[in-house]
Amino acid sequence: MPAKKKKPKIYSHSRLSTFEQCPLKFKFRYIDKIIPEIRATIESHLGKIVHDTLEWLYTQVKKGKIPSVEEIIIHYTEKWEEDYNEDIPIIKKGLTVKDYFNKGVEFIINYYTKHQPFEDNTLETEKKILIELDNKGEYKIQGFIDRLSHDVEKDEYGIHDYKTANNLPMQKQVENDRQLALYALAIKELFGMDKEVCLIWHYLAHDKKICSRRTNEELQNLKEETLKLIKQIEATITFPSNKSILCNWCEYKKDVCQVWNKNVEEKKETKQVELDIW
Ligand code: SF4
Repeated sequence: MPAKKKKPKIYSHSRLSTFEQCPLKFKFRYIDKIIPEIRATIESHLGKIVHDTLEWLYTQVKKGKIPSVEEIIIHYTEKWEEDYNEDIPIIKKGLTVKDYFNKGVEFIINYYTKHQPFEDNTLETEKKILIELDNKGEYKIQGFIDRLSHDVEKDEYGIHDYKTANNLPMQKQVENDRQLALYALAIKELFGMDKEVCLIWHYLAHDKKICSRRTNEELQNLKEETLKLIKQIEATITFPSNKSILCNWCEYKKDVCQVWNKNVEEKKETKQVELDIW
């Protein structure tokens, strides 16, 4: 009988960045699989609803119907109410749920005004991609592209990502971004390595678009670095905490993390378990 093929290990960008941000948080989330009481923050709720609304907008456009700005705000409001619950914490002092809701309305109106009639040839929204990191097919990265467009005249693909956070990165920071670069690799592998791919971040809080490109050599290096990071994660036995300002948005701060809860005992070692999806 032929040897049974090993199931690939599938990682995602968010798993890798959780490890980079705080190994202890990575352990709670992906090894111990602790389900926190409240998973969302008001920022993640806002992000989710804005993403959902823009996805809906482009789905309508693909069907040949451009919704009015009123229709899109109605969709946003309905989604917000459907998903919101009063336990979602607001970390930033002095801000209310209404402030966050209104931010979303502003993001959408600005985006709508700037991009209508949405003629940049959207191919897909929430496009699932899978990238092979090694030749044996043991390691893969899975992700979802917010929106993929194709400029037919230039034969150039656009990978769009919507950002709802307040920060606006410097160009140098986006030049080093791993997530969209990995997605570019997937698109090139799909349509041809000679194709031009533009990475586009829409910073909605600033009504600003930032673009970047990668050479094939840079993408190949990124693939190798990503695999190296995965091997490092797999070789990890102790998962140290990394206390920072980001703890305020960590779902384990309130009652799981020993850094903030002195009565919680710290486990010194953790044996990693085999998971299909990381
Ligand atoms: S609260 Fe901070 S230190 Fe604790 S797991 Fe979360 S990010 Fe890490």
